[in-house]
Order: sequence, then structure tokens, then C-alpha cells
Amino acid sequence: MTDDVLTADQIDDVRTRVQGLMPGVRSDLEALTRIPSVSLDSFDQAEVQRSAEATAELLRAEGLEVEIVSEGGRPAVIGHLAGPEGAPTVLLYAHHDVQPPGDRADWDSEPFEPTERDGRLYGRGAADDKAGVMAHVAALRAHAGRLPCSVTVFVEGEEEIASESLPRILERHGEKLQADAIVLADSLNWAIGTPALTTTLRGSLRAVVTVRTLDHGVHSGMFGGACPEAITSLTRLLATLHDDQGDVAIEGLVHEDAASSDEELGFDEARLREESGLLPGTELIGTGSLLSRLWTKPAAVVIGITCPSVEEAGNVLNASASAKINLRLNPTQDPQDAWAALQRHLADHAPWGATVEVELDEQGWGFAADAEGPVYDQARAAFADAWGTEPVDVGIGGSIPFVQAFAERFPDAAILVTGVEDPDTRAHGANESLHLGEFERVCIAEALLLARLGAMGATGRD
Ligand SMILES: [Zn+2]
Repeated sequence: MTDDVLTADQIDDVRTRVQGLMPGVRSDLEALTRIPSVSLDSFDQAEVQRSAEATAELLRAEGLEVEIVSEGGRPAVIGHLAGPEGAPTVLLYAHHDVQPPGDRADWDSEPFEPTERDGRLYGRGAADDKAGVMAHVAALRAHAGRLPCSVTVFVEGEEEIASESLPRILERHGEKLQADAIVLADSLNWAIGTPALTTTLRGSLRAVVTVRTLDHGVHSGMFGGACPEAITSLTRLLATLHDDQGDVAIEGLVHEDAASSDEELGFDEARLREESGLLPGTELIGTGSLLSRLWTKPAAVVIGITCPSVEEAGNVLNASASAKINLRLNPTQDPQDAWAALQRHLADHAPWGATVEVELDEQGWGFAADAEGPVYDQARAAFADAWGTEPVDVGIGGSIPFVQAFAERFPDAAILVTGVEDPDTRAHGANESLHLGEFERVCIAEALLLARLGAMGATGRD
């Protein structure tokens, strides 16, 4: 890059410093991983407090002014260290709580005793997201005593239980969290050796539809053949959610192609089949590129049905049946509009005049980054320097509630969704692990990003 804000020597210098720091970063990561900070209610919450304190201690050691806050939920850690006058402020996010370990028998080593095998560090939270916490600490250490920009670190304690009190924390402590750029380190890279910025997340909506055809159950022999029953009526209604090709047929939902093509990212049907465990012979549904179907087009999934089970079934025309529907929405779709569209669709397609009621269970916005501009330019350059290859833009088909919470609270900040995970991380599953080679590159990239944003501010660019 001509006209770069950092010289090749400065880049090498940051890289060398981070490499020298990695043994210490690694042992601090192991210490954090040994704390079983499961935020789920049924686990000992003293451990979550302990991991908050350990995180606070790591930040204090880097000279940050630190406090532990909670607003009716789990403890979050906020730390701040001012950089040079006039330098931009960067907010670094991660979370210190973890998922439950699940069945010990499914693990090849103790979940809370970090263990290295084949270049990967195994343990619950070794990746998600204590490695995110340590990437921030590593970046701070790389610039110890000469921080290029002001840095605020925010480490949440309840991401794994849906960040329930986060909106309150952002409201009460938002002033302290103001930043020009926000780095949310809780996502993934595309492959070993291929860094990624997560630029889209789908929104989500859950609703329960109930279909009624009779005011009470009646004998299937006496009335079957003339009177429709609820289960068949419900399944016919559910069948209208897709067209014959498997595209979502609810009018009013946004369908859009992903920014990256399958070819660009080397994604194909074989990989999708392998990753999903699709049975041989089962066809894919929908049209358009695979990544569009997974990241930017809507999905309609039936996730549960309430009606008599096979074991309890009698010869009855059932009067009512319910299904829970989960819609995944284009990143830009207003979930309120999607809810209206779903209600309309279900009412319009009621089979045989059945009574249809729909109740909203939960809805949330997706996220579409404005992935251009000076902060993104510097982030892409930092990733390219760290990996030796340009980062790709990826989407995630699921939702990460906290990302939208930050986007809403800080509409003027550039939001970068980065991460320490790779396709083999198995976050939330047994044998969760961190690829140590990739982790070093993550730390280098973040240290370079701070240097670049500082240098950008110093040269008066914006
Ligand atoms: Zn996470």
C-alpha cells in the first residue's frame, strides 16, 4: 500500500512485540479458562464474579482505570486508558462468561483444564470468548506506555444468556463507552489462514401459530371425511411458508444476495453438506447462491409442534394444533415489518376456513455494517499485515443480540465484528478449542489496528 499510515518497520515492530508477548498471553488465557464462569442460573455465580475480577485485574495491570458494573445482571468490566490528545477512542468488547460444559464424557480432556493438542488449546471458553478478552489485553500490552489511541475495554458477563441487562448497562454507562470505533471480538475467521470481518447478521423472529377447526375433539370415524381437523390444517398452512423450490413465500420479506459470492469464498454444496450433516439424497432448498441463502435471504423454520404425540394419539379429529415458527431475516429487514408480513400470510392462507391465531414470542434486529470508510480500511490493512492475505467479508446466518445493541446506542461509531474462532472451534460444544497460530495473528491484527487508528488520527485523516 502506498501512502500507508504505518511504515513497514513500524508494522514489523508491532508484530515482533506481540510475538514476544504470546507466552504470557497464553498463560493468562489458561488462567482465565480455569475459572468456570458459566452465566446460566443453575451454575455457581461466584465463579462469574471471580472471572470478572480476574479480567479487571488484567486490565488494571495495563494501567486502565477499571470498574465492575452490573445492572441487575451478571458483572461486566469496564476499563479505560487515555491515549494521546486528539487521538480517536476505540472500544474493545469481549465477554468473560461461558456456556455450560455439557456432558464431561463428550470431552477428550477436562473442560476447565486448558490442554494443548495439535496446535489447539482445548477448554470451555478457551476460544469463546476468553481468547477475545486476551486479544484485547495483548493489544494493550503491545503498546504499553505508548498507547496510540484512547482505549475503552468492555467485557460483558452474560453474553451466553442473551445479554439481557446489556441495554441497561449501555444506557447507564454509555457515556464511558463512547468511541469512534468499536471492535466486537466474538465472531470467527473464515478458515485457518483466511481472516474475516463479519459484516452481516440475520435478524430473527419467533412466533406461535395456533389453528382451530372444531370447538372440541370428536370421533374420527363419525366425522372424518367431512370435517377438517387441526393437525392437517396446520401442516397445510405451514407448507405455504415455502414455494415449490423451497424459497420463503411470505410476501413482504426482503430477499437479497450476499456481498461475497460462493466462488470468492470457496464455498460449495459439498462443504455445506459436510458441515450440516445433510443426509445423502436430501436436496437443498431455495434458490440463489448458497451464502445468500444462509446469510441474507430469509429462512422460515418450524421448530416445534404441539398436538397429541404419536404415543398419545387416539382416533380423534383434534380441535387445535400449534407450531412455533422461527424466521431468519435479511440483515436490513425491520422485524416489525416481518411480523406484520407473517401475520398477513398466515391469515390469508388459512386452509378450509380454519381459525388462525398468531402470537409473537421474540424478535430481534439483524445487523448490516457500513463496511466502508477509513476505520474499515485500516482494519482490512491490519488483517492483511497479520495474515499476509486480505480479509474476506462474511455474514452469519444467526443473530448476535449485543451487536445490534451497540449499533443502536452508538450510531456514529464504526463497528467491526472480529473474532478468534475458526470453523473447527466448536464454540458451545464439547472439545471447544482455539487455534493458537491463528490466535497470535488475531492479537497482531488488533495491536496493528490500534496503531493504525492512532496514526490515522495523528495525520489528521478521517
Ligand atoms: Zn461468544
